[in-house]
Amino acid sequence: MKVLVLGAGQLARMMSLASTHLGIDVLAYDVSSKQVINPVTFEVKHTTLEQEVEQAYAITAEFEHIPEDVLNVCQQSGKFYPGAESISIGGDRSKEKALLDNAKVPCAPYALITEKSAFIEAIEKLGLPLVIKTCQAGYDGKGQWRLKSAEDAEQVWSEMKGFLDTGTEAAPHSIIAEKMIPFDREVSIIGVRDKDGKCKVYPLTENQHTNGVLTLSIAGKEKAAIQAQAEAAFENLASELNYVGVLAIEFFDVDGKLLVNEIAPRVHNSGHWTQQGAHTSQFENHMRAITGLPIGSTQLVRPTAMVNVLGQPSIPQAVLSVADCTSHWYGKEAKPGRKMGHINVSAANLHQLGERLAELAEMLPEEDYPGVSETSHALI
Ligand code: ATP
Ligand code: MG
Ligand code: MG
Repeated sequence: MKVLVLGAGQLARMMSLASTHLGIDVLAYDVSSKQVINPVTFEVKHTTLEQEVEQAYAITAEFEHIPEDVLNVCQQSGKFYPGAESISIGGDRSKEKALLDNAKVPCAPYALITEKSAFIEAIEKLGLPLVIKTCQAGYDGKGQWRLKSAEDAEQVWSEMKGFLDTGTEAAPHSIIAEKMIPFDREVSIIGVRDKDGKCKVYPLTENQHTNGVLTLSIAGKEKAAIQAQAEAAFENLASELNYVGVLAIEFFDVDGKLLVNEIAPRVHNSGHWTQQGAHTSQFENHMRAITGLPIGSTQLVRPTAMVNVLGQPSIPQAVLSVADCTSHWYGKEAKPGRKMGHINVSAANLHQLGERLAELAEMLPEEDYPGVSETSHALI
């Protein structure tokens, strides 16, 4: 079976690596260079999007900011999962908030902004501080402003206007202002829904972000009550979207109550731990769901943590000497702050996971791997 992935980054690569053994061949379409490549070997295929769409058994996407014309070609084929609607909702925060409101799933209070008067009203209505985000584009905390004091409003507005002005009549830009949530921590749920509507959900993951970028995830320490809240949100949203494949939902945990931050209609960085910590990884389950194969167990096999490798030129090989630790390298050109790979470490219990993270912290400089040392101590 051939699967075409829109986007040719590490997620396409890991989907390929996780499904070769199922007899699935993955090719990736790089929407910016318009090239079809093998996401594992990076070999360029001299074929067109249309040819690949024709030949594919199923089509999916590894990111949500995909040009309309590409989405249309895929949607018309009838084999695109989770489909153009889910992808475009994930790629536009105003559509995403409308979905959450319709499904009555709580999220941060917000206001949509397309002009200055709405910005001023949002400051009054929501109060400061605000997190301001572009509705279209934006990932890893890019395309965001933090407005802490009213004196900075003019400066922030002039930058916001720059983004609004780059929209077109056919594809207007908008911005969302959200109340800054004083959360206790951030968590996410990764789940999969098959073509018959059956859902399976992984254990909740606790996530740490540094400057808007995910740096550390831990799975296997959550209580049943909070897991149940996240699962209810997943089932609600996935069925509302008639979703097929893996869907990720990021939450703020405020005193045990979950507020949705955002959704991602795809496999997600906070689910990378499933490669070593769950029976079936998120990548394999996504491929199973979109090709109509039965979805596999999402149960935790053992507590597992994931550490992102950001901007480093190579994998820190010494980590492989830590018990039950492995690394995943994406083969990308190194740039400061770029996601280059990740490290998964597993253990029999949380105490041992803490010990292994402490061992890792000794090898990984704190400035490049924030949170590892502190988290290890909290677990021991
Ligand atoms: P991703 O790479 O996860 O897609 P993104 O660019 O879409 O990131 P968000 O997830 O919306 O960005 O925000 C990045 C981070 O900024 C969040 O994980 C959280 O730490 C912080 N943040 C975002 N919105 C808020 C908010 N309303 N209140 C407090 N913190 C927030
Ligand atoms: Mg996002
Ligand atoms: Mg996010």
